[in-house]
Amino acid sequence: MTPDALPTLRESLEQHGLMAKKAFGQHFLLDLNITRKIVRLGGPFDGDIVIEVGPGPGGLTRALLETGAARILAVEKDSRFIELLGELKGVYGDRFDVIEGDALKVDELQLLADSQQPSPDATACKSHVVSNLPYNVGTPLLVKWLTGPWRPASMTLMFQLEVALRIVAPVGGDDYGRLSVLAQCLCDCEKIMDLPARAFTPPPKVDSAVVKLTPKAVQPEDRIVRALEKLTAAAFGQRRKMLRSSLKSVGGEALLDKAGIDPTARAETVAPEAFLKMAEISLR
Ligand code: SAM
Repeated sequence: MTPDALPTLRESLEQHGLMAKKAFGQHFLLDLNITRKIVRLGGPFDGDIVIEVGPGPGGLTRALLETGAARILAVEKDSRFIELLGELKGVYGDRFDVIEGDALKVDELQLLADSQQPSPDATACKSHVVSNLPYNVGTPLLVKWLTGPWRPASMTLMFQLEVALRIVAPVGGDDYGRLSVLAQCLCDCEKIMDLPARAFTPPPKVDSAVVKLTPKAVQPEDRIVRALEKLTAAAFGQRRKMLRSSLKSVGGEALLDKAGIDPTARAETVAPEAFLKMAEISLR
C-alpha cells in the first residue's frame, strides 16, 4: 500500500468506530497540514529514531513517517487505537512500531534497545520525542525526559498554552517558575507554534502551543540536577517569601552568600543560571 491509499484520519476513526475519550486527554489533530508543520519545525529527524507519545488516530505519526526518520516508535495507552495504528505498518513496514503502554512508566532506553535488535549498539543512535501530549500528564512527562536516564536529542511537544508559557518564561514574570528554571537550565526552549482550541477535534477548553526543547551541549551532572530540583521546589514552593527564608532547609543565607545572590531576593527574580550555580555550590 502507498501513503495515498490510506483513508483520511476522519475516515479512519469512522471505520474503527472511535470517538475521543476525555479520560485519556484526547483532542485530535485531524489536519495533516498542521501536523506536517509541527514536524517540519521540530525536525530534522533524518536517520534518527523518534518516539511519539499518544499517537491516537495517527495524524502526527503520518507526518513523522513522511520524514527521513529511520524509525518511529509510537507509545499509546488507549488500546482502542492499536489496530488502527497497525494499519500504518501496511505502508511503512518496519519503520513503524506501535507499543501499547503508559508513557509515564515506559523505559525509553529499553524500548530503543528492543527496537534495534539485534544491533548491540542500540542506544547509541540519536533519538527524539515528538508528541501532542495529553494535558493531564504533560508536565510529569517533560520532567521525566528532562531528568531521567533517557535524554532525547530534541523534544517537540504540544502543551496547553499556560504550560508552554511557563516553560519559556523569562525571569521576573508571573509565568516564571520551577518548570522554567529546570527546562532552561538543561535545554534551549522555544515556543515554535501557537494553536487555537478550534484546531483540535474535539476542541479543548484552552489554547495550545508547541515548544521545542533542545538539550544544551554541556549537561550538568545528575546529582546537580537533583540538587536543582530540590532548590527550585523550596524556592518556588513559597515564591512570595525572601530566599533566605524559603531556602532555610537547603542551605539558606550561607548558600546564597556563596552564590552571590541577594538573600532578600524572591525566587522569581533569580535567573536559571544563578539557580544552577547555587545547586553546584550546595554540593561542595
Ligand atoms: N497525537 C494525536 C493527535 O495529535 O491527534 C492524539 C493526541 S491526544 C491530545 C493525546 C493522546 O495521548 C491520546 O491518543 C491518548 O490516548 C494518549 N495518551 C494519554 N495518556 C497517555 C499515556 N500516559 N501514555 C501514552 N499515551 C497516552
